[in-house]
Amino acid sequence: MGFGLTLQGNGLRRDRLVHAGLFHDVDCFKVARLFRWTLPLSNFPSLIFNHCLNIAQRAFDLLLPAQCVLCGSAADRHGLCPGCRHDLPRADGPRCRLCAVALGSGDCCGDCLHHAPGFDHCLAACRYDWPLDALIPAFKYGGDLSLARPLASLLAERVAQAERPDLLLALPLHPQRQRQRGFNQSLLLARLVGARLGLPLDRRVLLRQRPTPPQASQSRAERRRAMRNAFTARRRLDGLHVVVVDDVMTSGASLDAAARALKAAGARRVDGWVVARADRL
Ligand SMILES: [Zn+2]
Ligand SMILES: [Zn+2]
Repeated sequence: MGFGLTLQGNGLRRDRLVHAGLFHDVDCFKVARLFRWTLPLSNFPSLIFNHCLNIAQRAFDLLLPAQCVLCGSAADRHGLCPGCRHDLPRADGPRCRLCAVALGSGDCCGDCLHHAPGFDHCLAACRYDWPLDALIPAFKYGGDLSLARPLASLLAERVAQAERPDLLLALPLHPQRQRQRGFNQSLLLARLVGARLGLPLDRRVLLRQRPTPPQASQSRAERRRAMRNAFTARRRLDGLHVVVVDDVMTSGASLDAAARALKAAGARRVDGWVVARADRL
């Protein structure tokens, strides 16, 4: 409808952040840049006009039913229609009890048997196949934050019956990467899942203390080596059961390294909750 265009810039749309209820989790630096580009204060009439358009858009959205992010038909309040929700590639069937990779038989994959991960258990909502392999990149690289709510709803449904942790954490980005991207996709997901399930979220305790190179061409062992000591915990977590939320789990090396840092800080149990699990490297 063009209502969002007035505040558009750099791939991030303030209207989408507001609608997703996530405006405060987006890096102030990026939002400030976005405002400077699109809302010069010298242009006061344009500021008022934009504000009115924002109000009009929110009223408009309340009157019209939500659209499915996949097919555009009428959706539930999380942004998915019943048909698309039904057709998503759920991560069901036999899975490794530790890393949630698909298994033909048994309850633990060869990789976890060979190298026990730092985490205790992992739950995945979906397989990283179509359309998750399009939705998640559009969310985290394309900055389409309207996808946070449908993705978080899939994860919240998957973990609703899981043992409740004491604390929910998000897998952090290195501060430099977060400044480039403007937001941490895992934190947005964790906040929505935590709100829906009534779980406390701590966004500060887990820190990525050094950047890690892209892992696409590395083996599992190389990824684990590259991630060693990549994370640290800022306070003690003695005796706590914590869950780390992430968008995609590929090799599990990031979650493994984060879990080791959390265990070193005293955590009793560390689980991973991920929206999508890639079953092959
Ligand atoms: Zn649909
Ligand atoms: Zn495994």
